Amino acid sequence: MVRRSEDHERPVERLYDTASELLAKSYDANLHFGYWDDFGNGSLAAAAERMTDQVIERIRVKPGQRVLDVGCGTGTPALRLARARGVEVVGISISRRETDGANERSRRAGLARRVRFDHADAMALPYATASFDAVWAIESMSHMPDRAKALGEIARGLRPGGRLVIADGFLHGTGTGPSNPVMDSMCAAFRMHSPPTLAGYEDLLASAGLRLTESTDLSRHARHSMARLTETLKGDSAEFARVLGRGTFVRLMESLCEADVTKIVGYALLTAERTADPRNSG
Ligand code: SAH
Repeated sequence: MVRRSEDHERPVERLYDTASELLAKSYDANLHFGYWDDFGNGSLAAAAERMTDQVIERIRVKPGQRVLDVGCGTGTPALRLARARGVEVVGISISRRETDGANERSRRAGLARRVRFDHADAMALPYATASFDAVWAIESMSHMPDRAKALGEIARGLRPGGRLVIADGFLHGTGTGPSNPVMDSMCAAFRMHSPPTLAGYEDLLASAGLRLTESTDLSRHARHSMARLTETLKGDSAEFARVLGRGTFVRLMESLCEADVTKIVGYALLTAERTADPRNSG
């Protein structure tokens, strides 16, 4: 059996089995960046809901339609969507603990008939072809070891003309420079893979049979979240060191003090539509 060290190769499902509740307690139940004004004023909770609303606006679904939430976290964004638009939502996560917790949240909210969460891997979706009107992936794409495979699965799950919205980080510049210590430490801590550039995303979408219809650079609005996240990590450092691994956590905090990650990574909302004849229609 391969022994895993405390700090390396801890799979993403184990990270979210433990980190979700901790982040929900000390960051916010929305495990994503907030949408701020230029000054970063106001609560993180309100900013995170504003970011969810930015995605809801772009997914443009109607009552009764069926939406897939790829990487559901605590289930909070999916429940907000279901309330706002009267849709049915199926959320998935690689962490069973998250889907158990999210299903409990849905029951408590009285929405269990419309919002359910399944333990599943985005790179092998257990759903029929063309069974969703829309899909969103809020800060989950960066965790996929094979983004092309995940996008192929998403395209297969969408009906022709169905819409995908991705909210995630992207690399500024050409993306061809040397790897960056602050990005590397973020990726190691949160079990992510360095994101593509915006052009790289567009290519990935096109290869999966998804046509980019809108790309909105929200870097200016999302950047204040980095400071809030750093404060959160400092505020609960013993717990985060335990969950992320002590060495990884120490390297992360050092690199966050040394460099401004928002200079390297931006934040975008990408909207795409499944073309009538995607290559992965299998
Ligand atoms: N979208 C949520 C959570 C973002 S955190 C929110 O905005 O609050 C990233 C999420 O992606 C976690 O729920 C994690 O478990 C999930 N995830 C990571 N890799 C995954 C995979 N391969 N398949 C499904 N979910 C995955």
